[in-house]
Amino acid sequence: MMGFQTSNQERLFYSFNLEDHVPKNHLLRGIDQYLDLGDLRQHLSEFYSHTGRPSIDPELMIRMLVIGYSFGIRSERRLCEEVHLNLAYRWFCKLGLEDAVPDHSTFSKNRHGRFRESGAFRHLFESVLQRCMSEGLVRGEGFATDASIIKADAQRMQSIPGEEAMNWTHSEDAPRAVREYLDALEETNDPSFIPKFVSTTDPSATWTGATGGPAFFAYCTNYLIDLKAGIIVDVEASAVNKAAEVDATRAMIDRVEEKFDIKPERLVGDTNYGSAAMLNWLVDEKQIEPHVPVCDKSERKDGTFSRSDFQWDEQADEYRCPEGHALRSNWRPFKKPRKRITNEDTIIYRSSQLDCAACPKKDRCCPNTEFRKIARSIHENARDVARQINLTPEYQQSRSERKKVEMLFAHLKRILKLDKLRLRGHSGAQDEFLLAATAQNLRRMAKWLTPAAQEASVVPA
Ligand code: SF4
Repeated sequence: MMGFQTSNQERLFYSFNLEDHVPKNHLLRGIDQYLDLGDLRQHLSEFYSHTGRPSIDPELMIRMLVIGYSFGIRSERRLCEEVHLNLAYRWFCKLGLEDAVPDHSTFSKNRHGRFRESGAFRHLFESVLQRCMSEGLVRGEGFATDASIIKADAQRMQSIPGEEAMNWTHSEDAPRAVREYLDALEETNDPSFIPKFVSTTDPSATWTGATGGPAFFAYCTNYLIDLKAGIIVDVEASAVNKAAEVDATRAMIDRVEEKFDIKPERLVGDTNYGSAAMLNWLVDEKQIEPHVPVCDKSERKDGTFSRSDFQWDEQADEYRCPEGHALRSNWRPFKKPRKRITNEDTIIYRSSQLDCAACPKKDRCCPNTEFRKIARSIHENARDVARQINLTPEYQQSRSERKKVEMLFAHLKRILKLDKLRLRGHSGAQDEFLLAATAQNLRRMAKWLTPAAQEASVVPA
């Protein structure tokens, strides 16, 4: 017999316990187990006035943001609606059935005001990371680093050529993103670099065509992860260029060492991190093994001798060519010592013109010049250390482990839907990247340590 629904929606009194209506294996139960916001109030206390109307509970704000970033709810308006309607979200936010959910504009104002000024998002990220460490998910033996491009909330239509932006001056009325950009410009003070386009809505975003398609404005999110369980140990927003990505990695390694007293034995990265200066910093300053491909443009493909065909003699400070003759950087002493280091941080070693003139191998060595030149990086010893590591089986293992950080970026974009930023300015990008990394660590912890924790069956867009 076909049945009829008999419920009565006008009933006034219910016996209802929210706890009973959240599945035991819901991912939020796992996340809740490892999210400790006990000291958040204390951290924020000096940023709140002691008089006036009470604000939204900061713990409620953070719990709502954790839901938003864990389940890919990118709109604040949508997040407030979802928390209002979804029982599991209400339970996680510690709201009763009849408790009010903050209005999206109040939510937004609080999020961008006190939370940013107080560094609450970094505090949250670090407290979650600390929990990952105490649960044994971080070993500290090997770290991997990489960067991924995320589109900024900026359009080509609202941009001007870089030279025009150089004439901007400080103004109190300028939007926050513009003031941030001008401050950063003053700090770096590099008049030689003029970008092609500058966005008028988010000037700190980089105009880039690095992905191969049409160019757009973007930031990079830089991750430093521990290789044991893929926990993100630090995250940093940067401009989209190799130098900024390398600087971000250095800053992250220093910060993790300073805050948690952890320095890895090896760092795994791609060619972007294989510059001579970076390798020198890793090997000589930090004593970290670089499991990184070496940027090497010395191999020749035209059949003439490459630099690897010349023998380096450290004690004599010279190369020996395949014919056994010396290549030196100073053939004769000068009264005034000369600066031997070029602008590219190299020293030029030259063969003797007399040796080369009589050489039977000249056609295979320097067919178009009278003598042979070799540029040696001042950081060549560090590059040699990396080259030796590149030949070991451990390096092959590191290469496959590098995929862990790439998988985190794929998860960030496809599952957490962070393929485009909603907040502007460098600090907006930093806030979003910190919250997304916090959500990824919480999800990882919940899934590793409570295997019953499942993805919510319906993941809102
Ligand atoms: S050309 Fe000069 S540098 Fe090259 S192998 Fe001959 S002697 Fe050595």
